[in-house]
Amino acid sequence: MNGKIDLRKVFDQHIKLEDYFTGFAVKSSKPVVPAQVEEPEKEEVEVAKSKKTDVVSELSKLAKEVAGCQKCVLGSTRLNPVPGEGNPNAQLVFVGEGPGADEDEQGRPFVGRSGQLLEKIITNAMGLKRSDVYICNIVKCRPPENREPRPEEIISCLPFLKRQLALIGPKVIVALGAPSTRTLLNTNKPIGQLRGQFQEFYLDEVSPPIKLMPTFHPSYILRNYSDDNRRKVWEDMKSVMAELGLKVPKK
Ligand code: SF4
Repeated sequence: MNGKIDLRKVFDQHIKLEDYFTGFAVKSSKPVVPAQVEEPEKEEVEVAKSKKTDVVSELSKLAKEVAGCQKCVLGSTRLNPVPGEGNPNAQLVFVGEGPGADEDEQGRPFVGRSGQLLEKIITNAMGLKRSDVYICNIVKCRPPENREPRPEEIISCLPFLKRQLALIGPKVIVALGAPSTRTLLNTNKPIGQLRGQFQEFYLDEVSPPIKLMPTFHPSYILRNYSDDNRRKVWEDMKSVMAELGLKVPKK
């Protein structure tokens, strides 16, 4: 990974995030200064990075904050919060869009049918254990009727994910599906155009970018169960494994 930070790209991503999430809002005529817009979140990320030595207790503190969070409407409709779980020192983090019904019931990410497929990908295809990686979502509470999370919900919840990523410090992030990919890369490009190639995720303006591989969400694979789609996900995971220096199991 190139240690040099492309500040222009970071700046553009922050501006695009503002554009992307405020597409339906009336905008001020004043130019947006990203440093001002992002200040509270920046501070949280900075604090999280400084607490990397105590990742387990910081992650459990974060989970308690999520449990008490009512920053968006999803807090009032959820059964259980689903902060995320896995290896606190994981080199690989999977990020989905939000919990579904099974996850909402159990308070754990990816435990329904999609979760079973994700687990198969991690264990059978990649030769890892679920406990080797960290699994979480963009929003920590279930959107009703499994709808996509709304922009205001994503904005409210994103600081939790950024803190998790700052604490864990993964080498690679796999963004599962379009909403997760669009959020983390601040882009509207279709997942079909982005998957298959590493992208860069910027936690803030000073940290080096984290490699991000967009791929199909397991629920999409289940709905469109074809050899072609499965092969594409396998190709994506092979690239991830190569990036992590892991041996690719023979298929
Ligand atoms: S989705 Fe996130 S921001 Fe909304 S209530 Fe749950 S934890 Fe809080």
